[in-house]
Amino acid sequence: MTTTSAERTVLSLTPRLLLGPGPSPVSHRVLQAAAHPTLGHLDPRFLELLDDMSLRLRDLFGTENEMTFAVSGTGSAGMEAAFVNLLEPGDTAIVGVNGVFGTRMSDVARRLGARVVDVQAEWGQALDPGRLEEAHRRHPEARLLAVVHAETSTGVHQPLDDIADQLRGSDTLFVVDAVTSLAGVPVEVDRLGIDVCYSGTQKCLGAIPGLAPITFSDWAMERIEGRREPVSSWYLDASLLSGYLGSERRYHHTPPINLLYGLHEALREVEEEGLDARFERHAEVGGRLQVELAARGFRPFTDVDHRLPQLTAVYVPQGRDEGRLRQALLEEHEIEVGGGLGPASGRIWRVGLMGHGARHECVDHLLEAVDELFANDLNGGRG
Ligand SMILES: *Cc1c(COP(=O)(O)O)cnc(C)c1O
Repeated sequence: MTTTSAERTVLSLTPRLLLGPGPSPVSHRVLQAAAHPTLGHLDPRFLELLDDMSLRLRDLFGTENEMTFAVSGTGSAGMEAAFVNLLEPGDTAIVGVNGVFGTRMSDVARRLGARVVDVQAEWGQALDPGRLEEAHRRHPEARLLAVVHAETSTGVHQPLDDIADQLRGSDTLFVVDAVTSLAGVPVEVDRLGIDVCYSGTQKCLGAIPGLAPITFSDWAMERIEGRREPVSSWYLDASLLSGYLGSERRYHHTPPINLLYGLHEALREVEEEGLDARFERHAEVGGRLQVELAARGFRPFTDVDHRLPQLTAVYVPQGRDEGRLRQALLEEHEIEVGGGLGPASGRIWRVGLMGHGARHECVDHLLEAVDELFANDLNGGRG
């Protein structure tokens, strides 16, 4: 009997335990929801689900913003949607850069013709609100100031309160990347006066990759309506999208219907667990992993005061070959963890305990596997 290449592909799709920086494990329940029969994008049944999803996303973001929905595209599409709607050529954008995703926001803004003011911090450190304030004082005309709330490349949990205080009452819009923070640590859009906040489905939300929850404040929508030039992306234009999401129900594009079923189910799971319980679970399980890894000689990459529980970045112990160990974890133990990006490449691991991955039994599996690999001295013994 011969197998076709299609059959071979299916055979190789045995699951792995996803403990990297995303995607995170998706529950059977969410996958089942996505398998429901596809409805039309203008079908009243589907529109009812979309409206309910907007309410659930508002609860999760801590906002009453009407313009709260899921962009058709991954977290990066959420980032593009935020910047392309707010920025026009020649606008000033202040961007906090202390990892891959801050660097990417800066790049996105520059591609839109903005004059970008980067405010840097070392990788593994949080941004200094004083330096952001200074940049804002030098550029009060800035159209927006953007920071990453949970920098997945470094494990930094950026405090937002001081930045929010500085921007309150100014003309500068506050943009926050909450791709890895949403549903893992509190995201409080209205309390902090955030104008645009975007996320992704495949990190702490535990849904299928392919959507980017996003919220625009009324003020952000007013500023978008008042643009000098149309939004340069037709697909991500928030005013056009509001024609479909709002009462007019004007066709814009066909959203990924089945992914939206999955997201809706994931939001129901979040509601059933309760947000506080969910944050507590991430904090407890992530905190435990950090203690256990330190006991095994993994030094933390991230500043002690700003560590995310859902993403742990650590130096692999001296003399161990991080790449070979990570490969052995995947091939022999079916566990995925992430390597370092940019300057941290080849030096660190990034372990994600996100959504359904934030469970003690996942930590147990990982630690047992690491202990076994270390005991077998599978270190690639560089010397
Ligand atoms: C993962 C991530 C993104 C990009 O999301 P994709 O779904 O990979 O496009 C953006 N920002 C942060 C902080 C992320 O962790």
